[in-house]
Amino acid sequence: MESAILDHQLRPATEGASGYLTINLGALARNYEKLSAEVAPARAAAVVKADAYGLGVEHVSEALYGYGCRHFFVAQFFEALRLRPLLSGDAQVFVLNGLQPGNECACAEAGIIPVINSLEHLHQWAGEAERLKRRLPAVLQFDTGMSRLGVPPEERTAIATLLKTSGMIEILFIMSHLASADDADSEQNGDQLAEMNRVAEEFSEFDVCFANSGGIFLGDAYHGTLARPGIALYGGAPTVGQPNPMEPVVHLDVAVVQVRTVPADVRVGYSGTHVTQGVTRLATIAAGYADGLLRSLSGKGAVYCDGIRLPIVGRVSMDSITVDITALPEGRLTLGSLVEVLGPHQTLEDVARDARTISYEILTGLGNRYQRRYR
Ligand SMILES: *Cc1c(COP(=O)(O)O)cnc(C)c1O
Repeated sequence: MESAILDHQLRPATEGASGYLTINLGALARNYEKLSAEVAPARAAAVVKADAYGLGVEHVSEALYGYGCRHFFVAQFFEALRLRPLLSGDAQVFVLNGLQPGNECACAEAGIIPVINSLEHLHQWAGEAERLKRRLPAVLQFDTGMSRLGVPPEERTAIATLLKTSGMIEILFIMSHLASADDADSEQNGDQLAEMNRVAEEFSEFDVCFANSGGIFLGDAYHGTLARPGIALYGGAPTVGQPNPMEPVVHLDVAVVQVRTVPADVRVGYSGTHVTQGVTRLATIAAGYADGLLRSLSGKGAVYCDGIRLPIVGRVSMDSITVDITALPEGRLTLGSLVEVLGPHQTLEDVARDARTISYEILTGLGNRYQRRYR
């Protein structure tokens, strides 16, 4: 955590950066409130794995705590170790991937709560509780049809038996994860809900945590007592192909490093994949695939200036992209001018579509070379 903050402080204060990633914590808070209202009387947790989807787990978690969030999910134990000391004792930090052999003791000591995904996990954690001679908390995840993480159906009986006989593990709630929640028409949602309800009957003493962002918008039946949104908090669309009810949180502007005018029949970028058709004005901007502007955007997608679309031409490089600025008045863009990559004219979903991926991959890939500003 310290190193991340230091890293940001070492950057040029506010001017002269190659790109500016603005994170609107007010919009984040409004998204949290909107999701909370949607699931009420259930509560909303926050999924802050992968550095809060790349937006900075310390700032994001602190802001969400301020707006009443008390349940924080990360994927890995080391992420939890980083986050735990930043939050007050009344907040809980959960590790979705659960325990790794060797980190049980550190997990217990730090007061971090593992998600138990298998009988093996439960044995590990119960063993640690025996060693420490105290009860340890956990969340129990069931596989309801995704075959990724969680207790498989054939282990349920053994899990129930071990919980009763050991008595050393305190299950805070049970959970499962939806595989197709972003597609409201997918039959898989209903199938998983039915399986989740069967599990909830078998383990009827526990509360249920089920919905991710998409699941929240599938209706009350999916809400349980705690929802686990990630992408919707950060402004991503929870449901594919429908208007996005969330407020954008991220704004990305990138600086121009060079402008030129070239005649017709000139090659642009690596491998000369683009050849100019006529006299063309080009700008090279200071972000590339190492900054999360994926190489699959080569010859696809665009950036914006004054609302005018500036298409990406040729290959995306590691540290730069060349765009066609012929549509702009001459002299509008010069060294240091900023163009919009994410903002009012281009959403996360637009960039994801052009890169043939999902908003999650764009957000988590933005990297740490931009100057970050938290509003
Ligand atoms: C990442 C993740 C979430 C959050 O999903 P979103 O689609 O971003 O809302 C919730 N639960 C689990 C288990 C996850 O892995």
